[in-house]
Amino acid sequence: MSNLVELSTELIAADTVSHRGSRKAMDRLGDRLLSAGFRVELQTWGEGELEKANLVAVAGPAEPDGLILSGHLDVVPFADQPGWTREPLALGFEGDRVFGRGTTDMKVFLAHCVEAATQLDLAALNRPLALLFTSDEEIGCQGAARLVPRLDGMFGDVPRPKLCWIGEPTSWEVFHAHKGVVSFEVEVLGQGGHSSVPEAGVSAIAVAAQLIARIGEVQAELRSEPSEAFAEIFSDAPYTTLNFGTVVGGSALNMIADACTFSLSYRPLPDEEPSALWQRIRQRLLDEPAVDWASGRAPVEIRISEPSAAPGLGSPLGTSLELALRERLGEQRIAGAPFCTDGGQLAAAGIDSIICGPGDLDQAHQPNESMSRSAFEAGTAHIEAVIRKLCIE
Ligand SMILES: [Zn+2]
Repeated sequence: MSNLVELSTELIAADTVSHRGSRKAMDRLGDRLLSAGFRVELQTWGEGELEKANLVAVAGPAEPDGLILSGHLDVVPFADQPGWTREPLALGFEGDRVFGRGTTDMKVFLAHCVEAATQLDLAALNRPLALLFTSDEEIGCQGAARLVPRLDGMFGDVPRPKLCWIGEPTSWEVFHAHKGVVSFEVEVLGQGGHSSVPEAGVSAIAVAAQLIARIGEVQAELRSEPSEAFAEIFSDAPYTTLNFGTVVGGSALNMIADACTFSLSYRPLPDEEPSALWQRIRQRLLDEPAVDWASGRAPVEIRISEPSAAPGLGSPLGTSLELALRERLGEQRIAGAPFCTDGGQLAAAGIDSIICGPGDLDQAHQPNESMSRSAFEAGTAHIEAVIRKLCIE
C-alpha cells in the first residue's frame, strides 16, 4: 500500500465529525510532521473524547514570504444521512472513484500535504513552509476563528507567510474569492388562545409571515443592486444572497400560535461588512411593526438573535501562489468559490488565500462521498511543484 493510501485510509477511518473530537487524529498528523523535521504546535480545546485541535507545523528559514498549506480535519455527519451504501469511514476504490466521508471535503488534500511535506528535503527550503490544519470548519469556521488570534505565537521566529493554499473541493479550479456566511434567528412571541377567538390573541405565525415578507423585500432589493466589481467573479449572483432555512411555529390547528421562530442565512460579498445586512434587516423589522391581521394587535415580543458570521474572502488577483497554481493546472476562468472557507478568517490575519483542491464540490457533504482517482493520484505532485516554486526556487 502506498504511503498516500495508508495515510488517507487512516484519516478517513478517524471519526472527526465536527461534534466529535479531532485531537487524536491531529496528533497523528503532528507526529508524522515532527518526525520529518517540522516544528509542530497544537491549539486544543474540549475534553476527553471530544477534545479538538488545530495544528500549525513550520519548517524552513526565518525569511519572509513562504507558503501555508491549509485544510480542515472535521467532516459533516453521516450517521443519519440517507443514501449511504458504503461504509463511510472506509477508504474504498471502485472504477475511477475513491470513496469515503472526507475524501472530497477534504481529508485527502491533508494527506497530499503531509505526503508532499514529509518527502521534502527541508534543508532545501529558502523560504518557510507551513501546514495549518483546523477543526470545526464545518460549523462556521469556528476553529480558524479560534486560531487566528494565536497565530503569530505558533510560528515562533519564522515570519508568518502571507499566502495560503486551501485545498477545499474545486476539481482543481483556482478561486481567489468567496462570499461570507452570516446566520441568525427571529423569534416572535404572540398571545395564544382558542382558534375560535382569533380577535382575542396575537398569532405569532401571522406576524412572522409579515416579517418574512419584509425580509423578502430586502432580498429583492439586493438582487436589483448587483455589484459591478463582482459581476464576473460571482456571475450567477453578484450580490448578497439570502435564504430562509427553517420556520417552526404553532402547536395545533385549533389554537392561536403563541410562538413562531424562523432562521435565515445570507452570503455577503467579500467587500461587505458581514453584519451590515443583519443591521439593515433588524432596523427594517423594528421600524415597521407588524400586527396580527385578526386582532390588529402587536406581538408580545420580537427577538432577533445576534448574527453568527464567517467572513468572506477577497484575495488580490495575481499573487505568486495563484500564478503558480494556474501555471501548474492550466488556463482557467477567474471566478469566486461558491462556498465559504477558513480563508475568510485567515484574511483577517493578513493572509491571502487561494481555494483550489482535488475534490469535487458536487460530492461534498453527500452520501457515498467520493473524488476522482486521477485527482487522488495527482495531488501530491501538484503540491510539490508549488512548494518548489514558492519556497525553494
Ligand atoms: Zn470543506
